[in-house]
Order: sequence, then C-alpha cells, then structure tokens
Amino acid sequence: MDPAQPTPGDAMPRAAECLRAARKVVVFTGAGASAESGIPTFRDDSGLWREFPPELFATWRGLLHIGASRPETLARFLIAVLDPVARAVPNPGHRAIAELEAHKPVTVITQNIDGLHQDAGSTTVHEIHGTLLEIVGRQGRFIRVLSRQDLQNIVTQLQQIVEGRIVAIRLLRAIRPLAGAGLGGWHRPNVVLFEDRMAEPAWTNAEAAARDCDCFLSVGTSGSVYPAAILPDTARSNGAAVITVGPDAPGGELHLQGPAGLLLPRLLRLAFPA
Ligand code: NAD
Repeated sequence: MDPAQPTPGDAMPRAAECLRAARKVVVFTGAGASAESGIPTFRDDSGLWREFPPELFATWRGLLHIGASRPETLARFLIAVLDPVARAVPNPGHRAIAELEAHKPVTVITQNIDGLHQDAGSTTVHEIHGTLLEIVGRQGRFIRVLSRQDLQNIVTQLQQIVEGRIVAIRLLRAIRPLAGAGLGGWHRPNVVLFEDRMAEPAWTNAEAAARDCDCFLSVGTSGSVYPAAILPDTARSNGAAVITVGPDAPGGELHLQGPAGLLLPRLLRLAFPA
C-alpha cells in the first residue's frame, strides 16, 4: 500500500482540517439529514416511493388525479408525508450544522422541505425545493406560514376520514388549510414537485454560494435529484473541497461513512475543540 495515499480512516481528521481552514462553508443537505428526526427518505428500502411511486405522487397533475379517482390513497399518502414532519425536531446533525456558524460563515442549501435547519438555529438557509411550512397562491405569492401544529391537525382529520368511508368532499375539507381553491383563487404548500421549476431566489442564491465556498459539506443526499445534484460539482470545479456524509459506501474523495447525527457533532468537536 502506498503510504502517501490516505486510508479511509484518515477521512475524519482531513475533513476537520478542511473545515478549520475554510473561508466560507456550504452545507448541502438531503433527506438523510432528517432521517434521524424520524422523517423517512424517499429512495431507501423503506422509503416513501416504494408505496407511493413518484410517477403518480410527485407531480401536481398526478396528485389531482389520485385525489379524484382514489381519495383514500391520497389521504394515506398525505398522512405518510405530513405526520413525520409535524412531529419532527432537529437531530444532533442539524444542531451541529447550526453550531458551525460560531466558527465559520455558513450557508445551508437544503433539498428538504421540513424546516428543521431553521428550528436548529441555522440563519442562512436556501430551501431549493421549497418548504411544507408555507402556503402560496398563484405565481408563488406568499399567503401564510403553516405551523407543525397546523400539520398535525390536518393529519388528525385525515386519520379520522381514512377510518370511515372516504369521499372526496371530506378529503377536500380536511386538507383545506394546506391546499384548495376558493373565491381568492387556489393555494398550495410551497414545495417543488417533479416538473416544477426550482424555488427562487433560493436556487440562484444556492448556485452562487456553491461557486463561492471553499469547503462544501454534502450530507444525506443520494445525488440523484437534478438540478440539485450538480451543486457539489459546481463547488468542486470552483476549487472547493467536497466532504460527503452518509451511510453509503464512499463515493467521493473525502467521505465520512455513517449517520449524520453521529458524525457531524464528532467532526465539529475535532475541527473546533472546546
Ligand atoms: P434520497 O432519499 O434520494 O437519499 C437519501 C440519502 O440519505 C441516501 O443516500 C441515504 O443513504 C442517506 N441517509 C440515510 N440515512 C442517513 C443518515 N442518518 N445520515 C446521513 N445520510 C443518511 O434523498 P435526497 O437526495 O434528498 O432526494 C430526495 C428528494 O426528496 C429531495 O429532493 C427532497 O426534497 C425530498 N425529501 C425531503 C425530505 C425532508 O424534507 N425531510 C424527506 C424525504 C424526501
């Protein structure tokens, strides 16, 4: 073995050194960053797409079709998506990312729609796929914030109606705080589904941050959702070191293999000892 080649065991100290030396850090997160908060990822073995395939459930057109033809299935899908987010609190990984701001200028770019980075205390968060916790109308006009309690109330109503005979009209009533149409036009959660454009100005800001950082920490993402997945390459081609964190086998040059909630606090302690 070439002693000049770092072994996988070197990844943690090298990642810590990279963070310590950084001028500007970007933390890029995907569904895995919230897995330890009880929010399932979509693509893993027990992921949501197994039961609710994205061809049907990841576009507005598909959701409208399911709602009209199989309201009970739509209700079950909404419970599966909303309930974990309604109950979630930040995990040690989210908190370590927020703590990093005490040491470096940090921009968080997240594909997640769960608001947990803000709850953990991160101050600059670009939600490139939007957020479940905001309701918008035509052309993305902001209407109101939705709290986790609001989500929980919707889930409770949905649970009651899946237990009885489900009819579309009861479903429409239960989800009215989340989505619907009325005299003022229609409203919906501010999330980006397949076929939608990226959330703005979050996406433009995210691309700029990726170009401008020198340490890019990618946490809990499979890198299979585009255009989000180009951001690590954007950072790398502008000279940044890219650190990846997640349970998958090493893909990148500096990979910390394991759960983010365990590894991120450890990385922070090593980079910035008390
Ligand atoms: P993904 O489901 O494609 O991949 C998740 C990745 O996280 C996998 O590589 C998995 O190995 C890894 N992972 C699992 N547990 C982990 C842990 N404890 N620590 C670190 N990594 C872990 O997710 P994606 O790449 O984010 O793409 C899915 C899309 O679905 C995104 O666009 C996102 O908007 C959306 N989504 C959001 C949420 C959320 O808001 N919390 C949850 C599911 C999906």
